[in-house]
Amino acid sequence: MNIFGLTMDELRAALAPHNVPRFRADQIAEWIYRRGAGSLHAMTNLPKALRAQLSETFTIERPTVVNRLHSADGATIKLLYAFADGQTAETVLMRHSYGNSVCVSTQAGCRMGCSFCASTLHGLVRNLTRAEIAAQAIGIADFLRQEGARVDTIVVMGSGEPLENYDNVVGALRLLHEDYVLGLGYRGVTLSTSGIVPGIERLAAEGIPVSLSISLHAPTDELRSRIMPVNRIYPLADVLRAARRYAAATKRRVTYEYILIRGVNDGVREAEQLAELLRGQLASVNLIPINPVAERDLHRPSNNAIRRFRRVLEEHRITATLRREMGTDIQAACGQLRNRLLEAGL
Ligand code: SAH
Repeated sequence: MNIFGLTMDELRAALAPHNVPRFRADQIAEWIYRRGAGSLHAMTNLPKALRAQLSETFTIERPTVVNRLHSADGATIKLLYAFADGQTAETVLMRHSYGNSVCVSTQAGCRMGCSFCASTLHGLVRNLTRAEIAAQAIGIADFLRQEGARVDTIVVMGSGEPLENYDNVVGALRLLHEDYVLGLGYRGVTLSTSGIVPGIERLAAEGIPVSLSISLHAPTDELRSRIMPVNRIYPLADVLRAARRYAAATKRRVTYEYILIRGVNDGVREAEQLAELLRGQLASVNLIPINPVAERDLHRPSNNAIRRFRRVLEEHRITATLRREMGTDIQAACGQLRNRLLEAGL
């Protein structure tokens, strides 16, 4: 039985039949989550006989790093993790001036079918488990610890649609929040969704105040349905209503992500439509020049077009930030590294 990914209560329950004193569960959790132990034998403050005994029943399954890319400026590291069944997922560490942020994946592949995204090119293989999602951040924390640093924030913006894997994603965030794991504050977590309305409503009632980010990318149903098929099921008005309710329930400002794609959604007309759509909302727009994906014929707008788009929003008093691009030299857009591996037939 794999004990990596268990909560303290679950770990205690697993250990109960072995007549182990209660404090041993704390020691074991410490080894698993804060000291990078890969086996029970490494837990040197446990009696040798106990380590041998528990090893007969328990394993500690950690994903292995199969590829690692460092951006030239040193600010971004991208890891490709492989899980027990050989499935892979990407995790990115971004070193910001305000702290270290980890971007985690929630699914191997994705079934949302967004036209600009590399993660969905090969469809969905499976959901990642709670342990596999948490392990990505714990692995980065282990790495940062060697330099006396820590994981400060988490963005659930890697491959996959987190609200289609709700229980495992929320379970992983709750686990990472525990003091015996990362002690991560929910306010340091941002979850991004393509707009799964029932999932947004459920998250609003969950009682964990994570920030919500909505992948909008288009100001009209016509255009959004063209580039994001999910819009045919949950149209803009429903997504915006759910987002407003989320903001009201959690008192957290909702961010709208808007990828700028040359000639598709980057015109003054779209900027005006977007401003009209968001008028009067406690919201801000995060503009993201598209990270071009080799398999798609979509391009980044000129700097002029980007500035113009932003200016129109600001003229309408919509707060707009331009996302700092990181890691474009290391295929850090969703799914790019995994695809390279898949396409090489590995
Ligand atoms: N499925 C969720 C979370 C993962 S995607 C979602 O859709 O929000 C995280 C963000 O990256 C989303 O806003 C997504 O639209 C964006 N993204 C996908 N492909 C991109 C690309 N090629 N360039 C820039 N951003 C991209």
